[in-house]
Amino acid sequence: MYNIHNKKVVLAMSGGLDSTTLCGWYLDHGYQVYPIIFNYGSKHNKYENQAAIKICDFWRLDYKFIKLDFMKNIAKSNLMIGGGDIPEGHYKDENMKLTVVPGRNLIFASILASYAESIEADIIALGVHAGDHSIYPDCRPEFITALKDVVKISTDWKIDVAVPFLNRTKDQVLKAGLSLRRIMVPYLMTRTCYKDQELSCGKCGSCIERLEAFKINGKVDPVNYQDYQEHTITITYESNMVKNSTFKDLFHKAIYEQGQDALNMLTKGIVSIKNFYPDK
Ligand SMILES: [Zn+2]
Repeated sequence: MYNIHNKKVVLAMSGGLDSTTLCGWYLDHGYQVYPIIFNYGSKHNKYENQAAIKICDFWRLDYKFIKLDFMKNIAKSNLMIGGGDIPEGHYKDENMKLTVVPGRNLIFASILASYAESIEADIIALGVHAGDHSIYPDCRPEFITALKDVVKISTDWKIDVAVPFLNRTKDQVLKAGLSLRRIMVPYLMTRTCYKDQELSCGKCGSCIERLEAFKINGKVDPVNYQDYQEHTITITYESNMVKNSTFKDLFHKAIYEQGQDALNMLTKGIVSIKNFYPDK
């Protein structure tokens, strides 16, 4: 429904902020997007898989769900089921290296390339960004450069690897997602936390980096956190405009003026219809 040309992109949809923004970015640029959702045996997979499926359904994308949960038996990482505790603190901290999953992107990229060649896609895209470089070796520019060559050679020069966010920080990725013109990225539906719990913790490196990104962009993160403080926004209008408008008009005006915030708050029920009719 969004495509304006016939280019196809295959990407890994984790349900997190980066891959969801990546997906929105390609939809906004008119690509046909073919997401793959992986379950690789991490503690937070069940939550992020749910998020990824919801987001694909939201955009009506035909996704593949691939089980790689055997990885928990071979890949040593605190991120995996059976691994040690998820460390808390900022991403730059040494202990966040405990969350590296050996070879994860290499394995994902191989599967993305296989699917891409099979459906005659043009590119595979990865949502890696500058914040990943120091911790994750298979997110660094030298890995991407080598991967491009490998994928080209293995697909007879048919598939390219695209990494539009490679040199952007997390807040710049979010900024790109918030600035899309045709597509609204449903950040409310995304899942970033590494921990095995329903509510995001707000304390692990992944949560902290995400919260900082929203703060830098002057936005409130719409997802619920363990110690969530309810945010409210007030949408006010001139009385005359309110009296002469339908709810639909007001809703569209709210989205236009307050964008993601208004929609998120409305979806969460924090802003009720009553708020749109301040006189009543
Ligand atoms: Zn967390």
